[in-house]
Amino acid sequence: MIKESRKIPRVGFDLDGVILYNPLRVLRPLAVGIKKVFVKNKARKFFVPTNPLDRAIWGFLHKTSFRKNKGLREIGDLVKNKRIEAYLITGRYSFLERDLNKWLGKLKTDIEFTDIFYNKNDEQPNVFKQKMIEKLELNAFVEDNWDIVQHLSSRLESKALQCKIFWLSNFFDKDIEYRYKFMSLKDIARHINDQ
Ligand SMILES: [Mg+2]
Repeated sequence: MIKESRKIPRVGFDLDGVILYNPLRVLRPLAVGIKKVFVKNKARKFFVPTNPLDRAIWGFLHKTSFRKNKGLREIGDLVKNKRIEAYLITGRYSFLERDLNKWLGKLKTDIEFTDIFYNKNDEQPNVFKQKMIEKLELNAFVEDNWDIVQHLSSRLESKALQCKIFWLSNFFDKDIEYRYKFMSLKDIARHINDQ
């Protein structure tokens, strides 16, 4: 339930692919293919790197592929002007904590997050994010991963919470239709500002 005393909407942001731009988004269809071949446990939807080699590759991809996303300033302005409270909720696994802390230091000047949460118990990212959105009673959450968007929107938009899931999409998914689909973080900032 949304508390009446709350005046400023709470918006959650994913890190990789939203706050940070990820040029390797093109790898998503490839990753889906890999998962289909190698994941024997069907219940596990998202890949969790557990052995040292997987972790090294995963870590390398994270270190090399990200930079600050365009539109950060606009989101930062919404926070400064008290239009939203921003929460960072990243599905990043525990072994990426050091890299995460480095990024948090770099992002300090761009956005003031009310709170920051990462997936330190290595849960499935979609499950972790749903739990945090419910706990924080967010009004909206910004996510780039279409699988996670589908999971969250089907479970959260119909609930009393009515959290809107904003999808930050990309060129390769341009044919997928979705109600809250945006092609840039700037568009999302504009949409929030127009509310
Ligand atoms: Mg992401």
